Amino acid sequence: MNQPTLNQIRDNILQLARDKGFGATPNEINVAEKMALVHSEVTEAYTAYRHKNIDGKDGFNEELADIILRVLHLCGVFDIDIEKEISKKMKINEGRDWKWDQINESNAK
Ligand SMILES: [Mg+2]
Repeated sequence: MNQPTLNQIRDNILQLARDKGFGATPNEINVAEKMALVHSEVTEAYTAYRHKNIDGKDGFNEELADIILRVLHLCGVFDIDIEKEISKKMKINEGRDWKWDQINESNAK
């Protein structure tokens, strides 16, 4: 079975949003609220990781999926070709230099 592409998942989520009333157009959603919900999923993922719940119900893996699903919902609402955007951004990052000596990050070189 072929795995769906990100854009196909985006389209499926948008249809689900239409069917369930989550909002499928910019006028039907509150962007700030949807962004806050993305953030809440990030917090849930971190909490699951802290509690060593990796692949259980509401575990780290599932919460990472929630993050992506909520982002893809926004991509559907705003008709964003997320595969194109990811490719574009990866090319930018590949050519980018990070100033590790100016970054306070635990794995900074
Ligand atoms: Mg969740």
